[in-house]
Amino acid sequence: MVSKCVYCRSEITDGRAVDVCTPCGHGIWGKKMFEAIISNMGSARDKGDLYQGSVTSNKAL
Ligand SMILES: [Zn+2]
Repeated sequence: MVSKCVYCRSEITDGRAVDVCTPCGHGIWGKKMFEAIISNMGSARDKGDLYQGSVTSNKAL
């Protein structure tokens, strides 16, 4: 699946969790911070952590 960078509209083909290309990400957050964001979002998605919160709150209702 191809997504587009929200800042410069260039195509992102590596399936990352954020719609921001590497040059824009480096410009906005800096290289180190951007890599941390990509890696944090990628691992959270892989483990399903992003959805655990909603499952828990549905149960509480
Ligand atoms: Zn961009």
